[in-house]
Amino acid sequence: MGLKIIVLAKQVPDTRNVGKDAMKADGTVNRAALPAIFNPEDLNALEQALRLKEKYKGSTVTVLTMGPGRAADIIREGLFRGADDGYLLTDRAFAGSDTLATSYAISCAVRKIKSFDLILAGRQAIDGDTAQVGPQVAEKLNLPQITYAEEILKAEKGKILVKRRLERGVETVEGPLPCVVTVNGSAAPCRPRAAKLLMKYKHAKTMSEKQSQSEDYIDMSADRPYLNIAEWSVNDVETDDKWLGLAGSPTKVKKIENVVFQAKESKVLSGSDKDIEELMKELILNHTIG
Ligand SMILES: Cc1cc2nc3c(=O)[nH]c(=O)nc-3n(C[C@H](O)[C@H](O)[C@H](O)COP(=O)(O)OP(=O)(O)OC[C@H]3O[C@@H](n4cnc5c(N)ncnc54)[C@H](O)[C@@H]3O)c2cc1C
Repeated sequence: MGLKIIVLAKQVPDTRNVGKDAMKADGTVNRAALPAIFNPEDLNALEQALRLKEKYKGSTVTVLTMGPGRAADIIREGLFRGADDGYLLTDRAFAGSDTLATSYAISCAVRKIKSFDLILAGRQAIDGDTAQVGPQVAEKLNLPQITYAEEILKAEKGKILVKRRLERGVETVEGPLPCVVTVNGSAAPCRPRAAKLLMKYKHAKTMSEKQSQSEDYIDMSADRPYLNIAEWSVNDVETDDKWLGLAGSPTKVKKIENVVFQAKESKVLSGSDKDIEELMKELILNHTIG
């Protein structure tokens, strides 16, 4: 029997290009100043979903993203690579969310999607780097979770078998379905876009995108429902305002710095007890640790 898989994917600023305009005065990211990309580990998660779709006939893959209007690109990217559909959760009320508010909004959207067997997320996003959203979504939906997944070996008869990549080796665990799995960057890379899917979905748009286009586009998507990307605002999902956006976010990022090390600032250590002891003393003295 087919699986209904939701992939949580985030559009992130390409942090390889962080410049001085990267942060706004309120400590949130100035996304307009940075190129936007599909969060790398979310592509690993998408690949795992697509492999399950191939293995279990009748499966579907849905991409769910929360972000500004331009995050619809993430859904199109998912469709070009083999996803079936997607939801863009977008509203000013979600702006400035920390992980708590992000996972709250995402879990409300998943509740609205209602029917699913598996939620896949990347291990972490390259901008916030917290790795909290996947596990928090699991907690909020009261679902079991498996983290650091490198390969999903099986998902059948109400059970999932997952190979996890840990610091000192691998571990294979079994869990019940439905559940949340967060996927590591060490998992298989995502397949490229398929030319046929690119042609099929290149005009897939959200309602807001269509409203800014000519009427021909609107007519075209009326005959071809797969060209409609679902767009949900805060009014489309059941939420409590006090848990949303900046108001629902206890974390405030004070500032970020772009640290570029110079050759003269690096130190080569031998690994001997003496070198390690000196390093520890230095780190304690300059308050890096302790
Ligand atoms: C420099 C910096 C530091 C930050 N530090 C903190 C902090 O210490 N504490 C804090 O609470 N917030 C912090 N934030 C805010 C945080 O980036 C956002 O709250 C973000 O929406 C979610 O956290 P994350 O990026 O760390 O995601 P992670 O928890 O690293 O993401 C894990 C996975 O969850 C899924 N996911 C995450 N966001 C979305 C989304 N919008 N749509 C769909 N799927 C998603 C993806 O699959 C992703 O791979 C920080 C932001 C910045 C820019």
